[in-house]
Amino acid sequence: MRRKTPYLVISALLCSTLMSAGPASAAAPAARPPVPLPPKEAVATGYGGAVASVSPYATQIGIDVLKRGGNAVDAAVATAAALGVVEPFSSGIGGGGFFVYYNARTHRVTTIDGRETGPAAFTPTVFIDPATGKPLAFADAVNSGLSVGAPGTLMTWQEALNAWGTRPLAEELRPAARLAERGFTVTGDFNAGIALNQQRFSDIAPTAQLYLPGGQVPAVGSTFRNPDLAATYDLIARKGVGVFYGGQLAQEIANTAQHPPMTPTSDRFFRPGVITASDIAGYTAPFTAPTHVSYDGLDVYSMGPPSSGGTTVGEALNILTQLKRSGWRLSWDTQADQAASLQAYLEASRVAFADRNRWVADPAFENVPTAGLLSPAFAVSRACLISPTSTLTSPVAPGDPANPGSGSCTPATTQTPDASTEGVSTTHLVAADRWGNVVSYTLTIEQTGGSAMVVPHRGFLLNNEMTDFDFTPIHPPAPDPNLPAAGKRPRSSMAPTIILRDGRPYLVVGSPGGASIITTVLQILLNRLDLGMSLPDAIAAPRISQRDSAHTEAEPAFLSSPLDPALTALGQNFIPAPATFTPASEIGAATGLEFLADGRIQAAAEPQRRFGGSAMVVFPVP
Ligand code: GLU
Repeated sequence: MRRKTPYLVISALLCSTLMSAGPASAAAPAARPPVPLPPKEAVATGYGGAVASVSPYATQIGIDVLKRGGNAVDAAVATAAALGVVEPFSSGIGGGGFFVYYNARTHRVTTIDGRETGPAAFTPTVFIDPATGKPLAFADAVNSGLSVGAPGTLMTWQEALNAWGTRPLAEELRPAARLAERGFTVTGDFNAGIALNQQRFSDIAPTAQLYLPGGQVPAVGSTFRNPDLAATYDLIARKGVGVFYGGQLAQEIANTAQHPPMTPTSDRFFRPGVITASDIAGYTAPFTAPTHVSYDGLDVYSMGPPSSGGTTVGEALNILTQLKRSGWRLSWDTQADQAASLQAYLEASRVAFADRNRWVADPAFENVPTAGLLSPAFAVSRACLISPTSTLTSPVAPGDPANPGSGSCTPATTQTPDASTEGVSTTHLVAADRWGNVVSYTLTIEQTGGSAMVVPHRGFLLNNEMTDFDFTPIHPPAPDPNLPAAGKRPRSSMAPTIILRDGRPYLVVGSPGGASIITTVLQILLNRLDLGMSLPDAIAAPRISQRDSAHTEAEPAFLSSPLDPALTALGQNFIPAPATFTPASEIGAATGLEFLADGRIQAAAEPQRRFGGSAMVVFPVP
């Protein structure tokens, strides 16, 4: 006769087995093997649709959607959901973004504003420390519940699919959920995203538990799983976005921000947030009109306010148009041509940033002169400030877009410098389908790693997007339109762009990089449209970024080229761009598409920056 093992002994044994085996216990059903890392190419050319993103996992998932008959919107949402798994320090359902869509049936470009909103308790002084009367240190605001705005990403996906998709959200979430559940290979950017944040991630218990298993940064090449995120995606797939915006998840997000879940050993103070479940329940992602300018007969569409991306890229392009009309030659033929072209680019950007800093904010709260900023007449009044032989002194006084005719050509330089505090995280994806629909989508949680707070048991990080507000007026006594307010969206720099030629898609581009998003997009367009580079070369070329400041940031390849002394002689003052994701100093991490004259699509990502991106087409024909 078999001896009966007492129940208590069995449960004690089971318990100790479970505890020693950790979360993935031997008692659980055998896990499916991790998803193998797809091959990574920075350029792909062919037919049938295309996707480019920073991750081969995410790009592959988008391509698979296209192969199964989905359209560009379906593919973009599935790709974005996958980025939330493998690029979680730059994107995810805890954040926001801007979705730009070309509809091949209507030939129209429409945008979705998925920017995070300020909680109802926000006032213009919310980032002033009541104890000192001074603005919070930027890092103290980033590492706080106060920086968390109502997330817009999930609503953006739902709105995009409702309007233009062919599949339900549940279907687009499934591949990403399985990637999170089965696991994926830790890549350089994933490892770096944690290593950069190791200290603050270790301060927050659920973040440390998820991203610092055993207290360590997961090694490149190891397998990483996020079963909590898989379960969150599955929950949303089953119940719909209402479970996030009107339900359980809204409450948990608010709780997390209001009571940052600190590690018991942490000695860091995370200021509690003020966001509530009803702030999240009230969130909307409206359809908005894109910005538009004409450039060399092309129609350039991008994201309007509250992003400054479209107005600033657009104004700078209009200024370049004026410079060309006045005889400025933009060309890459000789070194002198190259220096002249980059001088035009830097100075157009400098002036456009002066106007951006003064005028652009959330149009639901401020009178943003979008049409004026984009008017050719305004560009005339700004282009005349720019010289081929000397450099403007920053900060440049802003122009008055409402009265372009009254603009003076003598810049006053009485303003205080504007320290950009936008993050350097974010990610950009592009998608096109066989019917000719196109998506250009930039999404973010602001800082790399957002607010550092993972929602307990949900597997996603919360944004710190509210730090994109100005904490105090930047140029007093001039009014600052970008101060915090209840329900307001902070100014962004994201510039997801789609360019049409003769009414058909021609070029698509976007990038992360905080305020340098604008210069990255602008420089890629200059490289491609004026300087004769192919799209892959235009993306790979060394970047320089002037944002109305005394210094111009530059990548190492530029600093070691003869163009550095040539432009320094004109008065430019270069400094190395900061190292962000990689130990190397770099600016942006773009992706793009070009619709080639022979009917093929070329998808392009970064060959090097941020560990290199991934471009794929449905039917490769190199
Ligand atoms: N929060 C920034 C913006 O909206 C983006 C951050 C980044 O690109 O790193 O412009």
